[in-house]
Amino acid sequence: MNKSVYDALDRPLRDLRISVTDKCNFRCTYCMPAEIFGPDFPFLKKEELLSFDEIERLATIFVKELGVKKIRITGGEPLMRRDLPVLIHKLTQINGVEDLAMTTNASLLPRYAKDLKASGLNRVSVSLDSLNDDIFGKINGRGVTVNKVLKGIEAAEKAGLGVKINMVVKQGMNHEEIIPMAKFFREKGHILRFIEFMDVGNSNDWKLDDVYTKKQILQDIHNVMPIEPLQPNYPGEVATRYRYVGSNEEVGVISSVSDAFCSSCNRARLTAEGKLFTCLFASNGHDLRKLVRSNLANTEVADKVKNIWIPRKDRYSEERGDKSIKREKVEMSHMGG
Ligand code: SAM
Ligand code: SF4
Ligand code: SF4
Repeated sequence: MNKSVYDALDRPLRDLRISVTDKCNFRCTYCMPAEIFGPDFPFLKKEELLSFDEIERLATIFVKELGVKKIRITGGEPLMRRDLPVLIHKLTQINGVEDLAMTTNASLLPRYAKDLKASGLNRVSVSLDSLNDDIFGKINGRGVTVNKVLKGIEAAEKAGLGVKINMVVKQGMNHEEIIPMAKFFREKGHILRFIEFMDVGNSNDWKLDDVYTKKQILQDIHNVMPIEPLQPNYPGEVATRYRYVGSNEEVGVISSVSDAFCSSCNRARLTAEGKLFTCLFASNGHDLRKLVRSNLANTEVADKVKNIWIPRKDRYSEERGDKSIKREKVEMSHMGG
């Protein structure tokens, strides 16, 4: 039976991003600047978080009743959540999940990669924005070295996890690192995806001039290593894909700002305390924790979620230029990237 649920712009619900914590051991300037996310920042308390059983139940409802096929674990830094492999194992038991992945800063992978693989995780996306310690240490706000992340990547490879790399590019922050990163990860055989700096949250002092666009990124790479476009792997894929000419080595760009992809956006986000957001830039979430803690049956919870998804009209990135639309945003570390 086809359980797909379509929104008001004819976009099916396919992809669920689950944030398991709003905490992080990094303070990336574009995400959780240290001046704002200081020692007194009111992070979620343990009792506010969804339990693993509650996350598993909601994920089951999204997959079995609502047509979700892909799940991504994120945060904050997901490996800061204690016993994460236990949750991963629960999620791998849900029939119908075609892809289960996790986004991480890799710093804790040396400790957890083996357990993650054993729990059934297939692959990780690792965030790394530079190969230069001075630049990277400033970006991550904690002076973490590049080597620390490379060790995490190595541990993931050794454990048998697939690895992709994500690099946020910001004009003046690290745009000169595009070529060294592209060369390094081409050589290593890992797909590198460049992400345009986005105006998520209210803390990162975003300006349009700071966006190093997809066009600029592609031109920089093409000048040094010619590339050609590839077809998307599946409809709604967020990264546009390219191949280095004469090879099968791939590189991608996620152009949320200069070339928005709202028209195919099939993602919902569940925060660590159980709020459902239908857009990365939505001002309000819908409280699913209340539903999962009530005595509603799974089909009844699913009906409530359908009532959220069906009227969905979010297309923030396509409306970004419209100054008449004002909205209060939620931090990405809270909502889940
Ligand atoms: N802590 C994990 C990590 O960094 O991979 C997972 C959570 S993080 C919020 C998810 C992704 O969002 C990372 O790849 C990060 O680089 C990206 N991100 C955070 N803030 C961003 C921004 N302002 N613009 C573009 N991407 C951003
Ligand atoms: Fe932490 Fe990831 Fe945000 Fe960096 S991007 S501060 S690693 S949550
Ligand atoms: Fe999806 Fe919202 Fe991003 Fe558009 S702005 S792609 S609707 S999350």
